[in-house]
Amino acid sequence: MAATVRNLVDGTWVESVSGRSRERRNPADTRDVVSCFPESDAKDADAAVSAVAAGWQEWADTAPEKRAQVLQDAADVLERERAGLIPQLVREEGKTLAEATMEVSRTPANLRFYAGEALRTAGVTLPTGDGSLVFTLRAPVGVVAAITPWNFPLNIPSRKLGPALAAGNGVVFKPSEVTPLLGQRLVDALLEAGLPAGAIAVLHGGAEVAQALVADERVDAVTFTGSTAVGEAIHRAVPASRRTQLEMGGKNPVVVLEDADLDRAAALITKGAFGLSGQACTGTSRVIVHADVHDALVERIAAKAAALRLGPGLEPGVDMGPQATERQKDTVLGFVRRALDAGAQLVTGGPEEPEGDHLAHGHFVRPTVFTGVDPASELATEEVFGPVLAVLLAGDLDEALALADATRFGLSAGIVTADVGRALTFARRVTAGLVKVNQPTTGQAMNAPFGGLKNSSTQTSKEQAGESMMAFYTVDKTVYLSA
Ligand code: NAD
Repeated sequence: MAATVRNLVDGTWVESVSGRSRERRNPADTRDVVSCFPESDAKDADAAVSAVAAGWQEWADTAPEKRAQVLQDAADVLERERAGLIPQLVREEGKTLAEATMEVSRTPANLRFYAGEALRTAGVTLPTGDGSLVFTLRAPVGVVAAITPWNFPLNIPSRKLGPALAAGNGVVFKPSEVTPLLGQRLVDALLEAGLPAGAIAVLHGGAEVAQALVADERVDAVTFTGSTAVGEAIHRAVPASRRTQLEMGGKNPVVVLEDADLDRAAALITKGAFGLSGQACTGTSRVIVHADVHDALVERIAAKAAALRLGPGLEPGVDMGPQATERQKDTVLGFVRRALDAGAQLVTGGPEEPEGDHLAHGHFVRPTVFTGVDPASELATEEVFGPVLAVLLAGDLDEALALADATRFGLSAGIVTADVGRALTFARRVTAGLVKVNQPTTGQAMNAPFGGLKNSSTQTSKEQAGESMMAFYTVDKTVYLSA
């Protein structure tokens, strides 16, 4: 049955002002309608921002212990509802059961992590010598607009709403139009935990409402995760004084040196490239391999890729789900076809529809590996955000580093080697916010700073970084106090 998803404005779940709505269908079987949700526009954004602009101060004035408790209680709600949330996430986004289970577990843990920050966030007192006091007063920023993508519809919003609310801000949350239901579930949990209505609003819909939201002068901070193209459009649209955090795309390489354990390399590359159906910002999309081990590595990766079982995530034994949308599938297959036209060699996968009745109604793309990829081609330099891997050749570490850095992105970069010295050289010299040695480019500790370099991020503030993350969601006023 299709769920009814609504906007949240001033504590009430409402339709869009225009009455327009859209459907979200299960990407593994598009005959299944998952939800019907509002297609919001500027009028909805205006109402949502008005409500939070009027209501956030009450939340800011709430004791930090109480704010922390609300986040803890919301985590309890999510944990209690875990068994229901996992299949909803599979059905709405297309993840496998294992991937959905990981996300549903991580989200309450994030809320608990930020609950702690509500209590730890503090200012400083400075010496003066004349008996007066100089101190910094830490206050919330005000109204935070949080705009999120579909690939982690609970986890990424929890990394934004968690710290924003912990600091006492009000949030206008715009979940991805691909995953409205899971966005609503996160907010349901916060409301059930006692978050006051004035502290949160939810707007469903796409670019139209998001653009109106970021343009609203009453919005004090924008936190966005999504594509580089949209992030750059937001950057152009907001005034220079607006606090803005943009976490964007990647084109993440794994360098494989000649001394690498090739079975281990193939396993972690396959996981990084085809996990989440290739739809991870930190997904492996390039392999840069020493010529001596090129063929042996490609043979291993191809065997693993070809053995992956595609299917709807709830089916037992499925390793890889569909692409989240038809548009995503078309984009990915466009890259594959153009790579073929450009002369890259297809090792496994390709643009043809995968076979099987259970795949006939979903946006499935076969895990695909190319060798002989021109380092200047779009497949080697642009984000695909799908299960497509480009293999490039390098003669030594210097050449590998040059290739690794030869894109405008700088999110995650890996190296596989037995040589700790060369691994550290790689870590020092590669331009990436995350460096993985003998690990997949995907997967992060929940308390480790996370964010890209170059065009992958504004580098305003790292997510998951505890106290330094809270700096984004707070302002400091320096107070001079004489008796
Ligand atoms: P997207 O940029 O298309 O959309 C992201 C959000 O922005 C959605 O909520 C969308 O409705 C909204 N939006 C669309 N147009 C807008 C506009 N003009 N102004 C303001 N908001 C607008 O991204 P997506 O397809 O949802 O997600 C995939 C992308 O997200 C990939 O590029 C991936 O690398 C990136 N991503 C990055 C990270 C990270 O931490 N760096 C994490 C996950 C995903």
